[in-house]
Amino acid sequence: MRRLALPALALALLLTGCGSGAATVQNSLFAMDTVMSFTLNGEGDPQALQDTLGELGEIIHGLEDRMSATDEDSEIYALNHAQGQPVSLSPETAELLEQALELCRVTGGALDITAYPAVEAWGFPTGEYRVPGPEELDQLVGQIDYTRLEVDEADGTAVLPAGMEADLGAVAKGYAGDLLAEQLAEQGIDSALLNLGESTILAVGEKPEGTPWRIAVQDPAGEGYLGVLELRDRALGTSGGYQRYFESGGQTYWHIMDPATAAPARSGLAGVTVVSSSGLLCDGLSTALFVMGLEEGVQFWRDHQSLEFEVLFVTDEGELYLTPGLEDSFSLTEEYRDRGVTVLS
Ligand code: AMP
Ligand code: MG
Repeated sequence: MRRLALPALALALLLTGCGSGAATVQNSLFAMDTVMSFTLNGEGDPQALQDTLGELGEIIHGLEDRMSATDEDSEIYALNHAQGQPVSLSPETAELLEQALELCRVTGGALDITAYPAVEAWGFPTGEYRVPGPEELDQLVGQIDYTRLEVDEADGTAVLPAGMEADLGAVAKGYAGDLLAEQLAEQGIDSALLNLGESTILAVGEKPEGTPWRIAVQDPAGEGYLGVLELRDRALGTSGGYQRYFESGGQTYWHIMDPATAAPARSGLAGVTVVSSSGLLCDGLSTALFVMGLEEGVQFWRDHQSLEFEVLFVTDEGELYLTPGLEDSFSLTEEYRDRGVTVLS
């Protein structure tokens, strides 16, 4: 019933005619534990654009119903509670599990979709936060191992050993964004901004006036915006410790786990933004690079040029490191003008 949490927003619909049949429609909804907002531009019948907005919402809620780790009716919940027995999956869940596992392999397990027992032990799904002791952490490390999750995409089944749990929180929004963008492409809508919570954004085409979409990058250490990325036909994913955290005993603990320690990843990075043509890749890699840290993350970028992604790293000290493909599209906001930016090579 979480989807009813923001009824006013869910109904908020803005319709603006811009002459010559051009229209913009917007909608916000609460899904996947975050507020999402979609802006579509098009020519012709504004009602058709509105109908498309409705379809996007249905796709998102359908994915959430199948892939939530907390919803007892979801496929992921069934997988996590099947005590080692195979479970049936919808094609989308099987596809995302398979693609996420591929990213787990590529990132050497920095992304590990079986990190959920640790996420739970720290209290993130319920908000009942706690700091597990060293013995519990040792035990949790033994429960995290994506190589033990078996997915048969052709059969539409998956099996996970008893005691292990999977969660698609690190990749689902990006995957969802890709499905929405496909839906828009099928309907010939070539200008849209799909904001799936602040961390995952798809800039479809460009703005109606022919300029790129401008996407603000939050300062992980404050309320302000470090800079702006100007993007056309690109997805963006951001991971950071500032997005979900709690404080205890003077320490801050966040929701991104280092699978090697079952504790929040402390890699020296405060935030990582990835830009590419795939929402799934952006979402998965931003989480993984956050776990890796700057040095390992930069090396990963150098070693995986074929994945065609760009990165903005922000360290705990507030230093910015940018891959060269973003040099022309990123600009610092006025407030941060004096901040040093290192372009990587
Ligand atoms: P993101 O916000 O995309 O970086 O993903 C973080 C979410 O993914 C967390 O809320 C957890 O549900 C899950 N998670 C945490 N650490 C990891 C990890 N190392 N690999 C995969 N999923 C993770
Ligand atoms: Mg992610």
